[in-house]
Amino acid sequence: MNGQKSLKIYTLANPRGVHFFCEVCNRNATTICPACRVTYYCSEKHRQVDLESIHEEVCSFLSILRNTPASKFTMNSDTSVTSNFKNTLLVSLHLISLTTIKAKEYLFEEQYLKALPAAVHSLHFNNQLHGSDSLENVCSLLLITEAKLGMGNVELARQIFAQAEWMTKGAISCPDETLSHLYRTLAKINFVLGNFPKVKHYSSKDIYYCCKKYGPISHHTAGGYFQLGLSFEKQGKMEVARSLFMKVSQKRFYCWFNQTI
Ligand SMILES: [Zn+2]
Ligand SMILES: [Zn+2]
Repeated sequence: MNGQKSLKIYTLANPRGVHFFCEVCNRNATTICPACRVTYYCSEKHRQVDLESIHEEVCSFLSILRNTPASKFTMNSDTSVTSNFKNTLLVSLHLISLTTIKAKEYLFEEQYLKALPAAVHSLHFNNQLHGSDSLENVCSLLLITEAKLGMGNVELARQIFAQAEWMTKGAISCPDETLSHLYRTLAKINFVLGNFPKVKHYSSKDIYYCCKKYGPISHHTAGGYFQLGLSFEKQGKMEVARSLFMKVSQKRFYCWFNQTI
């Protein structure tokens, strides 16, 4: 697919009122993926970014998913589910899981430019399946926030974070894992801004909700302790930082040990 040239789109030929936007940056699109023909880009550069990130893995599924009208996502009158709906649902769930995991992997490896398209795709698929106000979108928005933060765009990261935060505030109840993710991202934003007391405050909240969900010895809390350790390291408080990093490695060892026995 890498060898295939993208197809140009001619905006004047679009039906009246129809606009296409770049999958990566949301600017007006000028080209289209020649394989699925439902994914648009502003430039060849952004097509390459998407291809290297996630598009190659999702391209074949996209034409099925995006050509399915929204009405297929609802149940019919006798509440039985059509086979078309079932297939579309399975494809959607698969794509949400695939793109979310990929985005997390790239963020862990600090490959922010590659993480961004995967996170954006995860938001689109969640949006399409659950609706634009759904709490499921929060995780994707936080992944996009982290990618933008890593790319140095702090202001945009804060704006995207605000959308995620607003969604959790509007919800009747919010799962502990979502709150943990929310506070960890907020700690990361404050770390970049050099606001270390806030990093401590939000990392503690992250660890609290993680412990509440998974238990105090779970490896899931390692991310919160690591962020806290980085903050103390940056302030030159090396002894505290070392003890926190030690806690992270103990939790990762515990996780590895339990997986291998
Ligand atoms: Zn673009
Ligand atoms: Zn494609």
